[in-house]
Amino acid sequence: MLETKLISQLQKIAGKEAVLTSKEDLTTYSYDGTTTWAHMPDVVVLPTTTEQVSQILKLANENGIPVTPRGAGTNVSGGSIPIKGGIVLCTAKMNKILDINKTNLTATIEPGVVLQDFNMALAKQGLFYPPDPVSFFGCTLGGNVAENSAGPYCVKYGVTKHYLLGLEVVLANGYVMKLGGVTVKNRTGYELIMLFTGSEGTLGVITKITVKLLPMPPARKTMIAVFDDMEVAGQAVSDIMASGVVPAKIEFVDNFVIRRVEEMTPMGLPVEANALLILETDGSPAAVEADAQQIVDILKKSGAKDVKVAKDANEAAMYWKARSAGFAAVFGAAHTVMAEDVAVPRDKLAEFIRRLGEISKKSGFFIQFLGHAGDGNLHPSIFTDIRDKEQFARAQETMAEIFRAAMELGGVLSGEHGIGLEKQRFLKEAMDPVAIDIMKKIKGVLDPNNILNPGKIWEEGA
Ligand SMILES: Cc1cc2nc3c(=O)[nH]c(=O)nc-3n(C[C@H](O)[C@H](O)[C@H](O)COP(=O)(O)OP(=O)(O)OC[C@H]3O[C@@H](n4cnc5c(N)ncnc54)[C@H](O)[C@@H]3O)c2cc1C
Repeated sequence: MLETKLISQLQKIAGKEAVLTSKEDLTTYSYDGTTTWAHMPDVVVLPTTTEQVSQILKLANENGIPVTPRGAGTNVSGGSIPIKGGIVLCTAKMNKILDINKTNLTATIEPGVVLQDFNMALAKQGLFYPPDPVSFFGCTLGGNVAENSAGPYCVKYGVTKHYLLGLEVVLANGYVMKLGGVTVKNRTGYELIMLFTGSEGTLGVITKITVKLLPMPPARKTMIAVFDDMEVAGQAVSDIMASGVVPAKIEFVDNFVIRRVEEMTPMGLPVEANALLILETDGSPAAVEADAQQIVDILKKSGAKDVKVAKDANEAAMYWKARSAGFAAVFGAAHTVMAEDVAVPRDKLAEFIRRLGEISKKSGFFIQFLGHAGDGNLHPSIFTDIRDKEQFARAQETMAEIFRAAMELGGVLSGEHGIGLEKQRFLKEAMDPVAIDIMKKIKGVLDPNNILNPGKIWEEGA
């Protein structure tokens, strides 16, 4: 519990209505997109200006109060869980699109802008911001930067970090720091913008973001390929990437998701298929036609049982809706869903899928998976129940095997979801100890009192 004096100081800074203390409100901010983590904050503050964020951090720093930054709470690594209590600083009300500059191809936004709102505003001007986490209906740009999020478009266009030109960050002591600007090139000093990108709320609170934009591609085509065998689907992805054609998206869904989506929203998906690849190509109409034909040919040659090209935008939207529903299909399937986020080199995808089959057989756990196959980034999930201690422990061990299999193939612990709480027990195995030490030293310099998102990324005492 925070002292009443501190609560009234927060009210003075942000206004009474921006400070939440009821049990119901605190519960709402006690969890995120994971099914394994929850912790109550002492108070939630919803500032509307950078100046308020600065004063909140100053107050927290002087009093040693933990502050957990939060956007929409959609992350799936436990990143926005206030595991040490204290303040949840939610940026949802800092949601203004400050500038869209069509000539300079840049935009500046506040961190609480929801990605879909941003996309809609850009689309009206024929502009395009590619990083597209599948949570786009809810997630915020601040959360996207703090997680360095990615999505289907990243096969061709790269991840959030590739679009960042400028940031405004409030440091733990309340100092408002400006980094970068609105130029595409900037080689002035260290790349500090990258330091805050993917920092999961542990180094500063992002209060303004400047991104570069692209013109909206004039044409798009969506294809789906049906496979009897998941490994063959994995190999088809490698074959496409090796062919010289670069699709905008290559997504993978397994039979479990196909069936669940069909149950929830019947749309004529092939329920007998063991895997589907959903692909998109974009660009000029002529290039799209040529690329689509080349992709269809490769898919057929690589062993797809059937390949369909969506006849219009409605049919394409239906397939992408099926992909978006994948997460709900999976996360609603069990009391506790453990979802991995490993990424393997794209030419190792088929081998990784084979290894997942072996791990499933050995452990007895059904392993479901879907993901961004074009990036080698799969989300294998295990259905379990945290209340059944013995089963949960076995599920955790199976997850460890999945992670180790990915590492053996040259992969990484997290492709896009971050470490948070969920993956910190593996960090030591996944990163050079000197690199971990440097990260801790950076944290010590920027946040000497350890008030910003404490308890995240590395295990305490480790
Ligand atoms: C259905 C579903 C689909 C998803 N699909 C994808 C996907 O395709 N790709 C992907 O990468 N992720 C995906 N995610 C995960 C998640 O949506 C992303 O990590 C997203 O970027 C989180 O944004 P948020 O606003 O919800 O941030 P939150 O969950 O609130 O916070 C995430 C982290 O960022 C920190 N943070 C938030 N705002 C700030 C700020 N202003 N300053 C400093 N730190 C801050 C928090 O402390 C926390 O550590 C998915 C999640 C769901 C539920």
